[in-house]
Amino acid sequence: MSSLARTRADFPTLHQNVGPHPLVYLDNAATSHKPRAVIDALARYYECDNSNVHRGLHALSMRATDGFDAARARAAKFINAADPAEIVFTRGTTESINLVAQSWGAANLRPGDVILITEMEHHSNLVPWQQIAQRTGATLRYVPVAGENAQHGLDLDALDKLLTPEVKIFAFTHISNTLGTINPAADLCARARKAGALTLLDAAQSIGHEPLDVRAIGCDFLAFSGHKMCGPTGIGVLYGRRELLDAMTPWQSGGGMIANVEYFNTTYKPSPERFEAGTPDVSGAIGLHAAMDYLDALGRPLIAAHDSALAAQARAALAELPGIRILGPLQNSKRSGLVSFAFKDVHAHDIVTFADQDGIALRGGHHCNQPLMRKLGLPSTTRASFYVYNTPEEIDILIKSLRKILKFFGS
Ligand code: PMP
Repeated sequence: MSSLARTRADFPTLHQNVGPHPLVYLDNAATSHKPRAVIDALARYYECDNSNVHRGLHALSMRATDGFDAARARAAKFINAADPAEIVFTRGTTESINLVAQSWGAANLRPGDVILITEMEHHSNLVPWQQIAQRTGATLRYVPVAGENAQHGLDLDALDKLLTPEVKIFAFTHISNTLGTINPAADLCARARKAGALTLLDAAQSIGHEPLDVRAIGCDFLAFSGHKMCGPTGIGVLYGRRELLDAMTPWQSGGGMIANVEYFNTTYKPSPERFEAGTPDVSGAIGLHAAMDYLDALGRPLIAAHDSALAAQARAALAELPGIRILGPLQNSKRSGLVSFAFKDVHAHDIVTFADQDGIALRGGHHCNQPLMRKLGLPSTTRASFYVYNTPEEIDILIKSLRKILKFFGS
C-alpha cells in the first residue's frame, strides 16, 4: 500500500459513497476529517476517564486532569511556545481572537489608537476588532491587497506606511481562506515590532498544514482551531506571550479561574486558568493532543509539500477551463493548499450543488470575507481545498465534473 493509501485508510469518513459516487472531499479549509487515532482518543476518554478536571481528588478526575494538562504541554510543544502557561484553551480561532479583542483590547485601546488588520481577513479577525474599535474609540485600518484577482498579496509598501506609532496591534491571517495566499508571517511581525505594535497571527488555515514556531515567527498572539487540523470541533488555542497574558484581565468569569472569592471581591488565578472559566472541553483537548501527534507522525513539512503540489496541479488544470477567474498568487511558493475560482456565467452555488451530485464536496460563497469579495467585484467563489488524504486522481474527477457542469450551463 502506498503511504497516501495508508493515510487515507486512517480516516473512516472518507470511505463512503455520496449517491453512487465515492466521496471526493475538497472542503478541508472549512474543516478536516478525523483520523481513527483522534476518534479513539475521544472514545477512550469517555469510556475510561470521563470526569471533571482540577477540583477532583479521585482517580478518574486525576486521570482526566493529567490528560488535559498533557494536551496543554503538547500544544505548547507543537508551536514551540516557551511555556504551557502560554496556551489558553478556547472553542477555536474565533473565540481566541475575541478573547484578545475583549480583554487586551478593552484595557489597552483608546481614541487615537489604531488597530491594523488586512483586507484578506476572515470575519472572525475583523468583526471583533470592529466591535472593540467602536467601544474604545480606536480606529480600524486595513492593509490593502494588491493586483488583479488579489494575486500580489498584501501591499507591503502600504503596510510600512500604515505602521505608524499609533498602531497598537497588527492582526493578520497567516493563510487567506479565500485567496490561498501565504503571508510572510515572520517578516510582517518584524515590521510591526519595529513600529512598536503587538501582533496577532490567525493561524486557522496554516496550523494543520505546515510547521509553526511562534518564537521564530515572533508573534505576540496566535489563534487556531482544532477542527481544521484533524482534531475535534469545539476546541482551539490562544497562544499569548506570558507577560501579556498575565497582565490581561479575564473576559469571562466563574468557576475554575479564581484564586479567592469574597462576597464583593475576587482574585484570579494566573494565566492560562484565568481565561478558562467553567468546565473546559476536556475531551476536545485530549482529541487535539492525538491530532497533533498524528500530524507530527506524518511530518508537517511533508504535509505542506503534499497540499501545495495538489493545489499546483489543480490550478494548472483549472486554468484550462473556459471563463475561469482564479484568485490568489500565481507563484506556487506563495500559495497554500487551496484554490479559489469563479466562472463568468455560472454561480458558485450552482457549481457546488452540481459537483455534489458527482460526490465532490466543495465550498461556494463569500468565505466569510465579504469586504474582499466586494473589492474583487465577485458575489462568491468556488473553493477546492486539499489536505493530507487527497489524491491527484481526485483533482481529475473534479476537473471532469466541472467540464460537465460548464457544458450543462452552455459555457
Ligand atoms: N480565520 C480563518 C483564516 C479561517 O479560515 C477560519 C475558519 N474558516 C477562521 C478564522 C474561524 O475559525 P473557527 O470557525 O474555527 O473559529
